[in-house]
Amino acid sequence: MDKIKNIKGTKDIFGDDSYIWQYVEYAIHNFIQKYGYTEIRTPKFENSALFKRTIGNDTDIVSKEMYSWTDQGNNSLTLKPEVTASVVRAYIQHNLGKKNITNKLYYIDSLFRRERPQKGRYRQFEQFGIEAIGSKYPEQDSEVISLAYNFYKNLNIKNLSLKINNIGSRETRLKYKKELLNYLKPFSNKLTKTSQNRLKTNPLRILDTKIDFEIDIIKNCPKIIDFISKKDLDNFNKVLDFLQKSNIKYEIDHLLVRGLDYYSRTVFEIHTDVLGAQSALCGGGRYDYLIEELGGSPTPAVGFAAGIERLILALKLDHNKIIKRPDIYMITAGSQAVKFSIPIANDLRLKTGKIVINDMHRRSLKSQLKEANKFNAKYVIIIGSDEIEKGEVLIKDMKSGEQKNIEVKKIDAFFK
Ligand code: AMP
Repeated sequence: MDKIKNIKGTKDIFGDDSYIWQYVEYAIHNFIQKYGYTEIRTPKFENSALFKRTIGNDTDIVSKEMYSWTDQGNNSLTLKPEVTASVVRAYIQHNLGKKNITNKLYYIDSLFRRERPQKGRYRQFEQFGIEAIGSKYPEQDSEVISLAYNFYKNLNIKNLSLKINNIGSRETRLKYKKELLNYLKPFSNKLTKTSQNRLKTNPLRILDTKIDFEIDIIKNCPKIIDFISKKDLDNFNKVLDFLQKSNIKYEIDHLLVRGLDYYSRTVFEIHTDVLGAQSALCGGGRYDYLIEELGGSPTPAVGFAAGIERLILALKLDHNKIIKRPDIYMITAGSQAVKFSIPIANDLRLKTGKIVINDMHRRSLKSQLKEANKFNAKYVIIIGSDEIEKGEVLIKDMKSGEQKNIEVKKIDAFFK
């Protein structure tokens, strides 16, 4: 019979890798909470309309990558392809704006996009991110950006680069779109089919191109920053100033516009050159219109989303420090010894917090010892008929080879 396999672009995480994921997830919770952000968990699927309305029909995500289906109740549902829309939906639905002047939220979540799988690009992937909803001031932009940057720095990710741009207000974008179209029209038959379509649907996305001859064309195009209002420019300069004061190096990238429709004003990405082609660790920016567009009252907001798989690819971890090995492996000779060992093991787990493994296969002492070695257990506790009779166990330190008989009631103290 054919064996059923996982879906292309998804993965199973187990063994040593699971410790790396736990380590990273712990680092995320721990670091982000230091800035006063609290966790928000939203459902894995939502009404399709939420994403269609917010991300933009002309984006790759909405036009070809969403996992959508109609359920038995005739509802059009979609597995979450990004988190901001869900967070904003929850923010409006639960009236969070009334509870706090700023809501600082973070998440760790699974996302689903039907992209072409490759290194650093999957169809189910994990992101963490933050959303600061409520403040329009540049210090909020700078907090979000520096949180991301410092998070990576703290984990020792090398060769970070922060790219930043300002894509202005709605009005700015309208004005700029016209100018960009004027500039691109003479080149239109030199552009790829995708870009030719984008000329009609969303010309800003052409700036995102990774194709050399298109990069050549756009390198002299008008810059969006020259079209933003004086107030936006002032704020942007303040954001840059805050970053400089925090010793965070940035590079203004006039071509950075970000893929999703809902961004406004500050946009940014953090890259590292250790990842190869998929070098973006995280991306984000302001989305000052999104809350209003989803039916809330106009509220400024800024956030970022960051890929966890790429973070793990970029991390150079000392695995020995992360992977948990068992403290104790219980070796038993015969069924009486099994019975004798189980309460001892439970007691050790509860009272000393040690990781204790019991053999479940009634194997020979030799095979159990072999497995204890394979698991790299720090100690073995050996129980045979002699030990039961004396109310003792034999404890062996696997590193030094030293062994000792210890009374059952003194085992906890030995391991404390
Ligand atoms: P985005 O939501 O597209 O702005 O992506 C934010 C971050 O999520 C990126 O910088 C990547 O680190 C990560 N990411 C996006 N798409 C994928 C994917 N298909 N597989 C793995 N990571 C991804």
